[in-house]
Amino acid sequence: MTTTSAQNTLVGRGRTALRAIVDGNLGQWIGGRGVTGTGEEIGLISPSDGTVIGSLSAASEQQLDETVAAARTAFNEADWAEDAKLRARVLRRLADLVEGDAEVIAYLDGIEAGKVALGSVEEDVPDVAANLRMSADLISHNDGRYLQNPDGWGWVTKVPSGVVGAILPWNYPVAMLGWKIAPALAAGNAMVVKTSEDSTLSALHLARLATEAGAPDGILNVLTGTGAGIGSAMGLHNGIDVLTFTGSGSVGRSFLESSARSNLKKVSLELGGRAGYIVDSAHATDFPAIAADIAGAAFGTSGQNCTAASRVIYVGDDDERFAEFRTALIDATEALTVGDPFEAETDVGPVINPRARDRITSWIDEAVEKGARILNTRADVPDTGSWYPPTVIENVPDDSELGRGEIFGPVTQLLRRTSRDDAVDLINGEPYGLASSVWCEDIAQVRWWASRIRVGTLAVNGYSEGTEATPFGGMRQSGFWAATTVRKPWRPIRRP
Ligand code: NAD
Repeated sequence: MTTTSAQNTLVGRGRTALRAIVDGNLGQWIGGRGVTGTGEEIGLISPSDGTVIGSLSAASEQQLDETVAAARTAFNEADWAEDAKLRARVLRRLADLVEGDAEVIAYLDGIEAGKVALGSVEEDVPDVAANLRMSADLISHNDGRYLQNPDGWGWVTKVPSGVVGAILPWNYPVAMLGWKIAPALAAGNAMVVKTSEDSTLSALHLARLATEAGAPDGILNVLTGTGAGIGSAMGLHNGIDVLTFTGSGSVGRSFLESSARSNLKKVSLELGGRAGYIVDSAHATDFPAIAADIAGAAFGTSGQNCTAASRVIYVGDDDERFAEFRTALIDATEALTVGDPFEAETDVGPVINPRARDRITSWIDEAVEKGARILNTRADVPDTGSWYPPTVIENVPDDSELGRGEIFGPVTQLLRRTSRDDAVDLINGEPYGLASSVWCEDIAQVRWWASRIRVGTLAVNGYSEGTEATPFGGMRQSGFWAATTVRKPWRPIRRP
C-alpha cells in the first residue's frame, strides 16, 4: 500500500469521528443531540475485511414516536418554515462544513460501506455541497404567483408539507442523504431520516454538522434501525406527512400500501434500474475510450448503483468491428484496480456484505450453467470480506435471474443487436426505466435515439446522471415523484 500523508489524515480524522459515535453508542440524532437507541443491537461490519467496527443500538418504535414528535414541534415552533433567510444561511453553512469534513465523511462511508474514499472526496461530498447550495439558492425563488380573472384574484404559493420521512439505501450513503435533505429542508420541512443498517455513520456525522450550522433542534433527525423495524413503522406512522424512499422495488411498493393503510402520506419512490449502455457502432469511433467509460459506468461503486451500466448493447452488423469492441471492453475491465477502498489507485472496492456477494455469485453460476460465458480474466480479490471481481458476461439466458433482474454488483452483460429498433425495443421493454447511455457521435442520430428511448435520464457520449440542474427519476417500475432532482455530473471511477 502506498500510504500518503493525505491518506493518513483521512484515516486519522475519520477514526476520531467513528469512535465519537460508536464508543458513546450514539446511533441516533434526535432533537439536536446524539442519543443511544433503545432497540436491538446492530453490528457494523467492514465489507473490506469482515472485521467488526463496532455496534450501535437501533432506535425503538417508542423513539420513533418521540422523534416524529420532536420534528413536529420544531416544524411548528422553530420559525424554520417561515424564515427563508435562516434556512438559506443554514444550508450554505452546512455545505461549507460538509466540505471541510470531506475526509471524515469519506472515511466513514469507506469503512462502513466499502466506498472508494477518493471517489467520495472528489464526487459524493462535492455533490452534497452542490445540492445544499443550489437548494439554498432556490429558497429565494419561491415567490408564488398572482392570478387574476374578472371574478377575482388569488395568490398561489408553495408551502412545506410538515414532517418528511426519508429512508436511505447504503450504496451512496452521504450522497443519497444530500439528495433527500437539501430540497426538503430548503422547502421548510422538518425531517426524520432512517439510514440503512449497513451505512449509518456519515449521516449521523452530517446531522451533527447541521446542528453546528444552526439548524434548529428537531429539524433534522437521523435514526439508525432496521427496515423491518423502524423502516416499516415509518411507513405506517400517522405523524409523517411525506415519505421519500430510495431502495428496492419490493420495499418501495410496501410504502404505497402502508400509506393507504395509514394517513395517506405522499410517497416518493426512487427504485431500481437495469441501465443499458448502447454503442451505436455506425457513429462510434474510439472503442478503447468508449470501453473505458463503460467500465466506469458498470463497475464504479462495484456496480451497486441504480444507473450502473449492467447491459452493454452493441448495435451493428460488422463482425470484425464487434470483435474489436469486445476486446476493448475486456481490456478496459481488466485494467481496473480492485482493492482497498483507502488506496489511492483503487477503482473498485468490495460489495456491501456477504449476502450480496453470495447472491451475485449464485446468479452468475446459474447463468453460466445455462450457457452464459464470462469473457474477462477476473481480478484476484481478497479472501476475507465481501468481494466480487468485475465481470463481463455474454449469452445470458432470459430465463435466468441475471437475465431478468437487477444484479446490483460489478457485472455487465454484453449484448449485440443488428438494428437500432431492436436496441430501442430492448430498453423500452424493460420493467425498469431509470437511465441509459448512448454513444453516438452524430448529433442528428442522437436526436433519433433520444426521442425513442423511454428512460428518466439518457446520457450521451459518456456516462452521467446529469447535473444538479437536471431532474432525476425513473419511468415505469423505477419509481416516480423523485423528490431529489439535482446532482452534478458523476464519474464513479477516476480516470487520469
Ligand atoms: P432496500 O430496499 O433493501 O433498502 C433500502 C432501505 O429500506 C434501507 O434503509 C432498509 O433498511 C429499508 N427497508 C428494507 N426493508 C424494509 C421494509 N420491509 N420496510 C421498510 N423499510 C425497509 O435497498 P438497498 O439494498 O439498500 O438498495 C439497493 C436498491 O436501491 C437497488 O434496487 C437500487 O437500484 C436502489 N437504488 C435506487 C436509486 C435511485 O435513485 N433510483 C438509488 C440508489 C439505490
